[in-house]
Parts: sequence; C-alpha cells; structure tokens
Amino acid sequence: MALSIRGYAAQSATSPVAPYQFERRDPRPDDVVIDILYCGVCHSDLHQARNEWHSSVYPLVPGHEIIGRVSAVGDKVGKFKVGEMVGVGCMVDSCQHCASCDAGLEPYCENGATWTYNDKDRHDGLPTFGGYSERIVVSDKFVVRISDKLDPKAAAPLLCAGITTWSPLRHWKIGKGSKVAVIGLGGLGHMGLKFAKAMGADVTLFTRTPGKEAEARRLGADHVVLSTDAQQMAAAARQFDFILDTVPSPHDLNPYLATLKLNGVLCLVGLLEPIEPPVQAAMVILGRRSISGSAIGGIAETQEMLDFCAEHGIASDIEVIDIKDINHAYERMLKSDVKYRFVIDIASLKAA
Ligand SMILES: [Zn+2]
Ligand SMILES: [Zn+2]
Repeated sequence: MALSIRGYAAQSATSPVAPYQFERRDPRPDDVVIDILYCGVCHSDLHQARNEWHSSVYPLVPGHEIIGRVSAVGDKVGKFKVGEMVGVGCMVDSCQHCASCDAGLEPYCENGATWTYNDKDRHDGLPTFGGYSERIVVSDKFVVRISDKLDPKAAAPLLCAGITTWSPLRHWKIGKGSKVAVIGLGGLGHMGLKFAKAMGADVTLFTRTPGKEAEARRLGADHVVLSTDAQQMAAAARQFDFILDTVPSPHDLNPYLATLKLNGVLCLVGLLEPIEPPVQAAMVILGRRSISGSAIGGIAETQEMLDFCAEHGIASDIEVIDIKDINHAYERMLKSDVKYRFVIDIASLKAA
C-alpha cells in the first residue's frame, strides 16, 4: 500500500514539466513522511529536466529545496515529531560508513550520495523523485529542522543555494577582517553576499552588468566592481582573500585570479564544465593562489546554516509561483529574470 502522490514530472528532454501521478514507498523504521509546502526551483532542475547533463532518467520529478511538515514517522524515529517544520535538500541518503560520511561530509560520500531526484534509492533500487510533489519519504538522517523564526517559503532555497555558498565560506574560515568577493548575482550569488556580510567580512560583488550597485548593497555588498571595466579590475588587484565564483557557464578566471592576495583562493560553485579559456599557471604560481571548488554541505553543516539564518534573520529573496507556471519560470531563469529564486507553492498542486 505505497502512497500515491501527485507531482509534476518531465517525461523526456523535450517535453514540458507536467502533472504526473506516482508512488512513494511505505515509511521504513527510520523514515520521516513530509507533506511538502514549498519547493525552490534550482538551475539544476532545469538542466536535468532537459537532460543537459546527459544523465537524466525519465519520468523525472525535479526539486531539491523542500520545506514541509512531518505527517508521519517510522518506529525508530526519535528526532522528529508529527507537525514539525522540516527541510530536505539535494541528498536523501549516503553510505554512512566511508571517510567522508564519518566526517559529516555526505555530499562527498566515496560510494556516492543518493540524490533527491534522478537517482536510485540505495536499498530498494527504485527511482528517487523530488519536491515538485505533495509528499516525500526520507530517512531521518537527511531531514533538517526549520526554526519557526524562519519564513518557510523563503527558507526553501537555503537547502541548495544557501548551503552551496555557506559551506565554502565556512570551510575557508571567512569572518571579521576577511575580504571576500562574489562573482555573479543570481540565486547563489545573492546568498553569498548575505552570508559573507553576516560572517563579518568586507564584501565585494563582481558583476558584468552596470546598475546593480544599490541592489548589491541592499544584499550585503560593501563594494561593487564592474568586471568589464579594465580600470576597475586593475584597481582591485591583490585585494581579496577569497572569491566565491557562482557563474554557471565557462568564463575567463585569469582577471579574477589577479584580484586575489597572496595565498588567496578562488572557489568555483557554479561551473561543472571545463574551464575555458585556460588558466595562466603564472596567475596561480606568482601569488601562491589556489583555484578550488565546493559542492553542497553535509547535513550537520546544513542544520548549522539554517540555525544561523534563524538567528540572524537571513533567508532568500524569492518569487512564489504556482506549479502550473513552472515551465514559464524556467524560461525566465534562462534570462536571469528572477530575484533571486522561484519557489513553488505546493498548495497550488493540491488545488489543481
Ligand atoms: Zn540545486
Ligand atoms: Zn559514504
């Protein structure tokens, strides 16, 4: 008697995301059943719905920025109670016994984390389906608590966009006195500005688009550098301890590397493709600079971020949509026409 669920799925790389009925497993002893209230819309939803990473299995139910209320728990769940507000991010499981998992770094699980959608459950082999749906069943180890100080809909993007920017800022120990730059002002970039500022850093936004100064300052930037302006870039030489690069498409890293101090780090969080054009080795050697990358964070770290957000009044800037408008939202995302994250009100799925 598996649970029958209403959701939205892509049936192929070329078909729109549309209504789809499917089943969720009966809860196992360690499972939490969550009635979904909101689901953020991430760029990776669009990439995978359209098979742009060449790994999509259809039907594909996207969504990995999930907020909802616990509606049932398995026998062995002590951590969560029915009625609690909780979240689920990009992962729903991992091996739980490798060095990465032991260190609380489940996204780097050596045996492969189980992703929230477009993956296979590691116990029953059935496909995982994401948050564009009315309910999800997840092991309690991969569920996080959402404080009632947080607006649940604005908290949804914290589960991917939030933790993706939080984790590297924490790993590289950003704090008071740090000089941080963020490249790109999208879903990730706007969270990078907010976090870096709240951690006490002096924060700069790199942007290619003039006229973003007021908006960037509202979100936490102390300075804005127009990266297309050679003079402004030259003035920024050897300024930064850390650059958070959120740009999802290939771009020239060399001009940004020149703005890092001695031992500075440029961390990629948006790009999955080869770096083009090539990096000049001299740019990293002469300055002992590093290029790095970072994925989402572990579950403990995700909870730490959510608690920090509740304490500091931080959330995403969002635009709430009905689920029937998801394909239109994807088109707007492609034009960067969103400030700064779409969030689906799952009540619109139940009403349809
Ligand atoms: Zn995401
Ligand atoms: Zn593992």
